[in-house]
Amino acid sequence: MNKDFICKQCGFCCEGESTVSLNQEKIDEISNFMGISRDELLSGFCVVKKNRIEMKTQNGHCIFFEEKQKTCKIHPVKPVNCRIWPLHKSILKDKESFEIIKNTCPGLQEMSYDEICKIIGEK
Ligand code: SF4
Ligand code: SF4
Repeated sequence: MNKDFICKQCGFCCEGESTVSLNQEKIDEISNFMGISRDELLSGFCVVKKNRIEMKTQNGHCIFFEEKQKTCKIHPVKPVNCRIWPLHKSILKDKESFEIIKNTCPGLQEMSYDEICKIIGEK
């Protein structure tokens, strides 16, 4: 039986100076969820970088990260890449990259490259 990935909710993957990008559909979904207009979401919570729109960062993490509880304020509508991380093919590019990502994610500590390959292969 395969091991399951269990997120330790450390919040590390919400940290950094950039976030995942949002498409128009996701912008609508998040603004509806927050009960604000698209323009309010874009001006207050997003940043346009070249050809992409990202969520803003604040204190070194995504603006929607709730620091005390280490939770996501838009959890029900968060972007798909947030939802599936780290179970994404990109972490399997090579074993070296996998080890680097593994070192930043407590949930991956007990898991091997082959185990993650199996989980992602099954998705
Ligand atoms: S870094 Fe890993 S364990 Fe921490 S919140 Fe992100 S997915 Fe969960
Ligand atoms: S949307 Fe939520 S899960 Fe995604 S980076 Fe921001 S706080 Fe983290």
